[in-house]
Amino acid sequence: MTRADLIVTGIGDLATMAKGPVPRVGAAMRELGRISRAAVAVDQGRFVFVGSEARCRREVRLRSEGTRWNAGGGSVVPGFVDPHTHALFAGDRAAELDLKIAGASYTEIARRGGGLFQTVRATRAAGGPQLLRAAEARLVRMGAQGTTTCEVKSGYALTPAGEIRLLTLVPGLARRTGLRLVPTFLGAHAVPPEFADRPDKYVTALIQQALPTIARRRLAVFCDAFCEPGFFSVAETERLLRAARTAGLELKVHADEFVRSGGAALAARLRCRSADHLLESSPDDYAALADAGVTAVLLPLTPLASFARRASPGRALVDAGVPVAVGTDLSPNSWVESMPLVLAHSVYSARLTPAEALTAATVNSAHAIGVSADAGQIAVGRPADFAVFDVPSVERIPYQWDLAPARVYRRGIRFPPAEPGMA
Ligand code: FE
Repeated sequence: MTRADLIVTGIGDLATMAKGPVPRVGAAMRELGRISRAAVAVDQGRFVFVGSEARCRREVRLRSEGTRWNAGGGSVVPGFVDPHTHALFAGDRAAELDLKIAGASYTEIARRGGGLFQTVRATRAAGGPQLLRAAEARLVRMGAQGTTTCEVKSGYALTPAGEIRLLTLVPGLARRTGLRLVPTFLGAHAVPPEFADRPDKYVTALIQQALPTIARRRLAVFCDAFCEPGFFSVAETERLLRAARTAGLELKVHADEFVRSGGAALAARLRCRSADHLLESSPDDYAALADAGVTAVLLPLTPLASFARRASPGRALVDAGVPVAVGTDLSPNSWVESMPLVLAHSVYSARLTPAEALTAATVNSAHAIGVSADAGQIAVGRPADFAVFDVPSVERIPYQWDLAPARVYRRGIRFPPAEPGMA
């Protein structure tokens, strides 16, 4: 008899995502590993049973102090894995919308010292406690929407010491929220005013003054860079990423978001873990990413926030055999916290099927941030991270634009533990 401290019965449709290779490509992205009339049991934060209700009744016994809950025929999916966020920032850029609507691009606004640089000024001026409180409130709201694992990038200090300071906040943020956070060093988010027109010198400063400390103190798992004209060239990006890899970090690229600048091709050549955005990448780039096994991280809300002409090329990438993941790109430029909203746009903008979208938001996004061993799937032995939705089938989650979970569990405990705070 298996002992459990939590048993959830009455699951009408359970998508375990536990069948098939990781990451999933092509038709395998539509395999949900589903069980109907299902139950899950949890003990000390990990699944101890996943299967039919009938078998659960026979095989699992609730501990005397344990909890039993009936999901009332609802649907259960793994806790979402958000593989791309800029969650550590101060302030907001609501006022920038007027400029964007008048036709100013992200790059033009930044060139005038606004946009991202406004956030850099606010973030540099903010104290650690202020940054922590703001990020914590956002992450708690994200968790309430079903995100249990989340990547967090630095990138709004743009000095070696400031970037290190941002990364040192991440472990405390994970403790305070209870979420699993994966830190990424994005010192090369933009060229700071102190190094205007000398991006190469800034890259050298990051390599010499930030990377050694980040690697030694294990402050980041990944190194990312914004490879676009006006930001970092392919050569500068490559120099930074090669140094990061030598220091022991894994690699990501913000690639081909505004123009086809060669970011995706570079990601393929360096066999990065992921290439993110890819709005302007070509079919040749898709083939190179597929050959290299690079995961495409799509941020389907960002083109809307940037008033871009193109939608995320989800359909084309899946059809080209590239493993596709999806995320929020939470930032002051595109303030998206909800993975259910991302799932809807994965379908309605990026043209993934609902099953592909669910794969992209769980098992493939876990792979994109190197945590597939214990996030993105519901299986015995794994952390009990899952979301329950009051709908009869999991396809209804991407189908309905902004369906909120009825309950979220992180390591078998209901999330959030307290009321979410203000932004
Ligand atoms: Fe981003």
